[in-house]
Order: sequence, then C-alpha cells, then structure tokens
Amino acid sequence: MRPGIKPFMPPAPWRNVHENFAHNFTGISWHLDHVGTGISEVELYLRATENLQWAIGQAIENRQTLRALGSNWSFSSVAMCSGGMVQTKGLDLIFNIKREHVSPIFTNTGKTPAALKLVECGVQIARLNKLLEIESNPARCIRASGGSNGQTIAGATATGTHGAALYSGAVHDAIVGIHLITGPNSHVWLERASYPVASDALITRLGATLMRDDALFNAALVSFGSFGIIHGIMLETEPLFLLKEYRISGMVYTDDLIDSFAALNIAKLKTLLPGMPDSVPGHELYHMEINLNPYTVVKDGNEGMYVFLFYKVPVPPGHVVNHGGGYDPAPSPEFIWIMKNLLTALGGNFSYDHVKRATTREFEANIRPATPTPKSIGAIFRDTRFTGNIASFALAVATSSLAQTLEEILAEIKVNAFAGAVAIRFVKGTKATLGFTKFDNTCVVEMDGLDTKSNHQVFANVVNRLTAKGIPHTIHWGKLNGPLNANNMKRMYSPNKVQAWKQARERLLTPEVRSVFTNPFMTKCGLDTPVGFPV
Ligand SMILES: Cc1cc2nc3c(=O)[nH]c(=O)nc-3n(C[C@H](O)[C@H](O)[C@H](O)COP(=O)(O)OP(=O)(O)OC[C@H]3O[C@@H](n4cnc5c(N)ncnc54)[C@H](O)[C@@H]3O)c2cc1C
Repeated sequence: MRPGIKPFMPPAPWRNVHENFAHNFTGISWHLDHVGTGISEVELYLRATENLQWAIGQAIENRQTLRALGSNWSFSSVAMCSGGMVQTKGLDLIFNIKREHVSPIFTNTGKTPAALKLVECGVQIARLNKLLEIESNPARCIRASGGSNGQTIAGATATGTHGAALYSGAVHDAIVGIHLITGPNSHVWLERASYPVASDALITRLGATLMRDDALFNAALVSFGSFGIIHGIMLETEPLFLLKEYRISGMVYTDDLIDSFAALNIAKLKTLLPGMPDSVPGHELYHMEINLNPYTVVKDGNEGMYVFLFYKVPVPPGHVVNHGGGYDPAPSPEFIWIMKNLLTALGGNFSYDHVKRATTREFEANIRPATPTPKSIGAIFRDTRFTGNIASFALAVATSSLAQTLEEILAEIKVNAFAGAVAIRFVKGTKATLGFTKFDNTCVVEMDGLDTKSNHQVFANVVNRLTAKGIPHTIHWGKLNGPLNANNMKRMYSPNKVQAWKQARERLLTPEVRSVFTNPFMTKCGLDTPVGFPV
C-alpha cells in the first residue's frame, strides 16, 4: 500500500455527528494521514497531493463516486455519496508563508506574508486558533468563526460556515488561494485574478497549475465537495485582537428597532438599545446577533429579545490567551445549552402549550450573560459538548428583508409549535458564487431546535411563507436543508449564477472526474446537469 493512505470501511450505517441521517457507503473509502519518519512537512504535503490524486484515479477505475469528508458536522447529507469517503482530518499541516512564496503584487499592497497561512484541508478550526493565537509570535487570529470550533477548514469553507462578523464576512471570505485536486493527473492553484497572492516559486513547489480567475475561484470557494478535493487553503489572518461582549435586553420590539438593524444604522440603534456602547477606534463593533424566544417576542413588547454585541479591542499588555481550562458556555447560537434541557423538559409531550411553556422556561433560564472580560476568537467560539438530537436550520435574507422575515417566522410559530429558539446573525455578504450569505448585508436567521418531525415541518413552512411573500432567501448548505430543490435553487441564486457555477466546474473537472464527485445532494439541487441543460 502507498504510505499516507489506507482503505477503510466506514461503519454501516454511517451517521453525522448529530445523527440526523444514516447513510451506507458501498465503495472504497480512504483515510489519509502523515504517518512516516524522516520526511519534511513539505514532502509530506506533496505526498498527500499524490495520494489524493491516486484516490481519484482509483474511483475512476472502479467506477465509483467519492467525496471528501471533514469533521462530519454537517446536518445535511451534503458530504455523502454512494461510493466512498475520503477522510481528511489526518491532513493537518499548517505552513508559514515566506516572502518568496508571495506574489510581489500582494506585497506591493502593503500586506506582509506573515498575514498568510497555507492550511491543509483537515486542520480543525480549534487547532488553527491555537497555532495562530498561542503558538505564533506575534500572535494572529482568524477573522470569523462559527459558534463552535470543530469543523475542518475545508469543510467549513465548503458549506459557507459563518459567524456574525458584521463587516468581515464568513470563514471562507478570508480565503485567498485554493489548492484543488482536480483529477488523477491534475491539480490547480486557484486564486482571484483581481487578488493575486502566490508566487511562481510556490506554485512550482506544489507542482500545481496556476489558474488566476475570479469566476473559477468564486465558484470553487463554496462548492461542498463537488469540485474535487481541496488540499490546501491560503488564509488571510489578522494581528491578534480581542472581542469584548455586551448583552442588551429589555428593548422594545418596534418597526423602528428592526428597521435600524436592517439598515445597520448604528447611531439609531444606540438610541433604541439601552446601554449600547459606542463604536469608536479601539472599541469597534465587530459581531452582532439577536437571540429570540419566539413565544414571548411580540410587537411593542420588551420580552424575549437579547442582543449580543462584540466589540473589537486591542490586546492589553500581559494578556495570556487561554483556550483551555473549564468550559465556558460558548456564545453559540445553536442554543445547545437550551436543547439539552428542553429534551428532558418535554419528556415526549409535544402539545403546543407544553412546547411553548417548556421552551420559554428553558430559554429564559439558560440565556447566558455576556462574558465580562475581552477574549480572543479562539477563546470565545469553543467546543460543543452536546451531540445528538439537534435540528439546526438556517436561512439567509438581505438585512432589508429582516422585518418581514421576522414577522413570518413569529406568525408560523404562533400556529405551529417550535421546540427551539431563533437567532439572527449579521454577516457581510460573500463573493462566492453559491455562497448562501450572498446578500451585500446578510441576516442569517437560525432556527435551532430538537430533531423532531414537527420542527422539520416548521422549517419547511417558514420557507414556504417567505416564498409566498416573495422574500428573497437562501438556505445554509451544511444545515438541515430539506426544502432545497432544483427549482428553488434557481430562484435563490438566479439561473445565471447556477450556470456560472456549473461552467466553472466543467472548466476544472473532466466529465469523468465530475461523475466521481457528483452525489445525490447535487442531483436534488439540480447541480449535476451539464451547462446548457435548462435551469
Ligand atoms: C455543533 C455545530 C455547530 C455549528 N455551528 C455553525 C455556525 O456557527 N455557523 C455555521 O455557518 N455553521 C455551523 N455549523 C455547520 C458546520 O459549520 C458546517 O456543516 C460545516 O460544513 C462542517 O464542517 P466539517 O469539517 O464537519 O465538514 P463536513 O460536514 O464533513 O463536510 C461538509 C462539506 O465539505 C466538503 N468537504 C470537506 N472537506 C473537503 C475537502 N478537503 N475538499 C472538498 N470538499 C470538502 C464535504 O464534501 C461536504 O460537502 C455547525 C455544525 C455543528 C454540528
């Protein structure tokens, strides 16, 4: 057998971490790692590139499908295919970037190579945070994170994982280069023509073909394993900063309030949110989210709405970044701490009134306070301790549609019980062709609840309501996304965007390789058909 790759048999049935679905693989799956001594990290990386190419070659030979798997955190079956999986978590190298690796065009903009890291696909966000915030000197950090930190960098990118970084976007919006394995004999370095980063020396060292093309790059960025296997990602990082958190409650839910959120009118918000701090240099608003108990939020009422704001502040002298120690409840809008109790509180009784009472009680009892001391991104967005029985659904709308969207969600939950809570996270829009945070100013509305049939129905009803009202929206690729289909894909992204994504895929992958990386999820979304096929 080749060093660094071995076949393995996934347990049958295979389940995602939250056990929302069961799946059976029928082909050969592969596990990759860097086992071996006396080999430099660069050589190990190059060996892994060859192994990934070889695995694709094997899939072609055996006429089976293949898909890369990250941490298996997705709630949807986006990572599943009938053939086999490629386990990537063992590919976890992180490389510093030196001046000779960087295009002079990049350095001429005043940026330094120290801002860049070449991160191998299987690196988990927690490890990346540790390397950047604790082990690097000077310390650095990522720009955005999801609520927890177990995703791999490639897995997080592939589905468009986001936090609530109001002005800097989702995790993948900090990516400036992609090393993509496109076939048994091909691999490419993709970057934007409008933002070149890698030097010829780096491309030559990787042995990749350089493709500087905005359309290709933007399409591959959020492509959920459909464009081959991402081996490495060039990530732009920031000098370490901390986030100071504030929780604001007691504000009155009025049209004025929601319109101010929608317009990101911070000056106006300051007049409506009691005690909202100023955003000034050295203390700038960075992350904004609203947590809602959908049963107690009513127009002109002041209950059930909690605004969490994080301000970017400098690192004070002597500050020690600490990712370890006791578990602080992460500001995770997955409401995991609530779900755990809710499951017990409901005890199998899903009548409307019981769900309403139990959800309200658990929400109010468990809504967390703000963390008083400023912390780094890696220290805030931490581990998830509870796995199982959670249904996480998220849709995105333009901030300008926030008022209508909120009204529809509250109207739905007024008639159909939802065992869960709602969060609204504000995210700067992405350039990724099929990035679901596609609106210039995006609101991601998250509905996290128990994994019950009735909750799934509520998700579907909300999508139907938005569609009926003509409110443009998209759905998270990695969360529960049952309502996605070929028809609403066109409406969500426009036929042109869907065609552009397919076109990029056809430019990068031969028909043979496209077949290897086509899965039922893509078919359901109408993304498997060739360009020119009516969309
Ligand atoms: C507890 C929890 C908290 C979460 N919090 C958030 C949140 O705050 N915000 C948010 O937006 N989402 C959140 N999610 C969703 C999660 O971030 C996404 O589903 C993410 O894609 C999972 O990453 P992963 O590494 O587990 O990838 P997987 O689920 O394993 O795979 C996801 C996709 O990535 C593809 N992929 C993986 N590796 C590669 C590769 N090397 N090359 C090509 N394709 C690849 C797979 O084929 C698949 O299509 C959360 C999920 C959980 C379970």
